[in-house]
Amino acid sequence: MLNDTIVAISSPIGTGAIAVVRISGNHVKNIIGQALKRKRYTPKKMYYGWLYNKEGEKVDEITWVYHPQPHSYTGEDMLEIFCHGGKLITYAVLNTIIKYGVRQALPGEFTKRAVLNGKMDLIKAEAVNNVITSETEISLKASFNQLKNPLSEKINEIKNSLLSISAQIEVEMDYPDDIEFEDHNMKNKLDDIVNRMDQILKGADNGIIAVEGVRTVIVGKPNSGKSTLLNALLRKDRAIVTDIPGTTRDTIEENLNINGIYIKLIDTAGIRNTEDTLERVGIERTINSIKNSHLILFVLDGTTPFTQEDELIYNKLNELGNKTVIIVLNKSDSPNFKESNYLPLKQKNPNDFVIISAKNGDIKNLEDKIYEKFFEKVNIEEPTLTNQRQKITLESSKEFVLNAINSFEKGFSNDVIMYDVRKALEKIYELSGENYTEELLDKIFSTFCVGK
Ligand code: GDP
Repeated sequence: MLNDTIVAISSPIGTGAIAVVRISGNHVKNIIGQALKRKRYTPKKMYYGWLYNKEGEKVDEITWVYHPQPHSYTGEDMLEIFCHGGKLITYAVLNTIIKYGVRQALPGEFTKRAVLNGKMDLIKAEAVNNVITSETEISLKASFNQLKNPLSEKINEIKNSLLSISAQIEVEMDYPDDIEFEDHNMKNKLDDIVNRMDQILKGADNGIIAVEGVRTVIVGKPNSGKSTLLNALLRKDRAIVTDIPGTTRDTIEENLNINGIYIKLIDTAGIRNTEDTLERVGIERTINSIKNSHLILFVLDGTTPFTQEDELIYNKLNELGNKTVIIVLNKSDSPNFKESNYLPLKQKNPNDFVIISAKNGDIKNLEDKIYEKFFEKVNIEEPTLTNQRQKITLESSKEFVLNAINSFEKGFSNDVIMYDVRKALEKIYELSGENYTEELLDKIFSTFCVGK
């Protein structure tokens, strides 16, 4: 499968001066001979010429570069064609290449090949994708840190330590009478690995937030102004706002950028149609999004007193703990607005309380508060893990190391310890992509764009 040759348009589709079509695989030299009619050429040098179809007709005037394997992005023979940038002409170039027996690439397939050919590890491949898809400067910075100063080195060190421990155990198992290592040596090594894993995991949550966005949920009783706030944050009429409670039927997810902080806004407003009070305020149905969120905007209607429904939501949020909650007192523009109704709440949460008018778009207080709460977290200098896959995989590797330490302390036999060391190693290989399943790779690369 790796041997078939793939092609894709690697630049955005649209009208531009130049578009890039990339080809990778062992058929590249034939294409240069047949479609570019060039017999002799030097690698990495740009040539000018014409692209010809199989019938020998000129398709486009192009420049092109040949990157021989293994010194290319994918590690295979590659050809980059720079053609005219119009949509139709770019597709004509693509289709011409396909006619020469080349298959159109799947999303991320070039990078997948780079990983499979050992040109980069999975963590770096994911960083490449993050750099391309970064929507804000701060998320770009976190992704770029991972690209230029990859965590891969630290992961490699952990891998080598685990390998050395496993070699040590194997020697002990093979020559039980001749060699006995000092116990504290092994224990120290395992402890050291856990420490290094903890160092990496410490920054993981912030790295994930920086790159994948601050998952934000808007909650509040019906009619408090959640949809209006969503629209104000997005500065467009996205959710339909009426004064009949319950107009927002589905969960809406939107991306937004608050001074460089990437916010993923999930609106779960207005889910009800039940007698259950908790359900009626939409909290039970939103509980999962709340659990997965980093920030909760709790919207209150400043034109009415603090109601039982509000209290129900408030208590539920407090039960969740460990979440950033901003209390948003809305409708400050209304003549019926009374801050005094909410004074006790404000006194209890002085740093998490803002007053806004969603209707008038007067939400700067809220945006500033969000920035204040998240800037430190997401403004990351160090390379760090940037997605859940990486975090969960490293955590499970750590679990196995902890098991090994535990077995060691209890004086279990070497093969018991060895089992967990091997498992920990497997997880590290999975993290770096040295040990993969097709399913895992397909899942990761399906989020890439075609042509990368
Ligand atoms: P939701 O059910 O929580 O999503 O509430 P909506 O956003 O649909 O708003 C309910 C009603 O409150 C609508 O009539 C809005 O126009 C009104 N509303 C929302 N925000 C404000 C505000 O800041 N000021 C005033 N005066 N009315 C608002």
